[in-house]
Amino acid sequence: MDKFAEIRVPIANDNPSIRRKESKCVKCGKCKDVCAKKIGVAGYWKYDSEDIVCINCGQCANVCPVDSITERDDTDILMQAINDKDKKVIFITSPAVRVSLGEMFGLPAGEFVAGKMVACLKKLGADYVFDVTFGADLTIMEEASEIIDRITNNKTLPQFTSCCPAWVKFVETFYPQYIPNLSSCKSPISMQASIIKSYFAMKENIDPKNIFLVAITPCVAKKFEIKRPELADMYGKNTDLVVTVREVSRLIKKQKINFKTIKESNFDSAFPTGSGAGVIFGASGGVMEAAIRTAYYLTTHENPPADLLNFKKLRGYTDVKTAEVILLNRKLKLCVVFGTARAREILSRLKARKIDMLEVMACPNGCVGGGGQPKQFNNDDAVIKRAQGLFKQDEIMKIKSSYENSVIKAVYDEFLISPLSDKAKKYLHTTYINRKTKIIK
Ligand code: SF4
Ligand code: SF4
Ligand code: SF4
Repeated sequence: MDKFAEIRVPIANDNPSIRRKESKCVKCGKCKDVCAKKIGVAGYWKYDSEDIVCINCGQCANVCPVDSITERDDTDILMQAINDKDKKVIFITSPAVRVSLGEMFGLPAGEFVAGKMVACLKKLGADYVFDVTFGADLTIMEEASEIIDRITNNKTLPQFTSCCPAWVKFVETFYPQYIPNLSSCKSPISMQASIIKSYFAMKENIDPKNIFLVAITPCVAKKFEIKRPELADMYGKNTDLVVTVREVSRLIKKQKINFKTIKESNFDSAFPTGSGAGVIFGASGGVMEAAIRTAYYLTTHENPPADLLNFKKLRGYTDVKTAEVILLNRKLKLCVVFGTARAREILSRLKARKIDMLEVMACPNGCVGGGGQPKQFNNDDAVIKRAQGLFKQDEIMKIKSSYENSVIKAVYDEFLISPLSDKAKKYLHTTYINRKTKIIK
């Protein structure tokens, strides 16, 4: 039992995402405040046992002024894998990392540092470095096909996005009646991991058992996600380790790699940078905008018009955004939310709102404000600048939509057949758990 649970969030010893260093805690209450007001978890369950409710978002770590709460540091496990000559270490890097990692080395928030990031990972000992924008594009192919299927076959609506593991756990814990609304799509890192350990391993003639797959993410909830038994495949966990921006930057410094001067490298060519749609996944509204671009194409066989390639109503930095779009001869009502506390309000009046698609990301402004991102106590704009960095990158990219990504086309042609095929469902989709029993309030 945590005797200070009235003041602060209790943390289970086996929490895979965060930990508390007791000696540092000054009992300021900031962790509980953010967990209650922004995440909507503290105060919504009764603390009288060791069965602690946490959706692993890590926002408490981001506000802790003295680093008493931090991400779980898994860098020793990473170094062990790198030093194991039998292992092929493959890094995959999430979209939001490339606009925040530079901050850990004195560069401004939002500065695009993908080339330096890849170079540092190679220097650390990566055999391959791949871009998760491929996984994001794959997610969109499946998620856009799923919304079309739900609409045309009168299945459960609204469809909820499922790429944020903290949001998924929030639904499973507090609103299990809405589990059928969650898209069955795995998150981008989990989709990409499945494809790497199957299709890529087969093509490259690598035994999947010898692959050690590390996701570099802005997210501590992914440390929980990769332990979900539903995601395990015949080789065990499909993603072996999740390392956050803060952890990887510590490792880069420890290995005395000069981030500022290192010569930039490109992602390895099997999964190079995907579409602009995949890049904007890291900011609130990005998943929805990406899905609409591809859903438009799949239903009209035409490229989306300019206003859908810069969907202004879904962008911006307010925690609830709504928009409408005509698809399949009907008006689809879209809603984008960040902060699971705000999502509570949306879910409480879900029927009345008549939403068709709901995107929820737990963290402020989406993954750019993730629980594993650099802490920015004195720079309120940092998270917004990171989001702007992603949208700016989308603007200059030639390939805007997931269906245009040639590697995506090849993977479907050579392996998955088509979105929502039996094979796609086997490798790219998942199931969920009713966790309501833990709520004893
Ligand atoms: S925010 Fe940090 S210092 Fe403040 S109560 Fe929570 S753990 Fe302790
Ligand atoms: S990780 Fe998120 S849900 Fe868990 S205690 Fe911290 S703020 Fe609350
Ligand atoms: S918003 Fe992004 S960083 Fe935050 S918990 Fe969800 S997936 Fe992780």
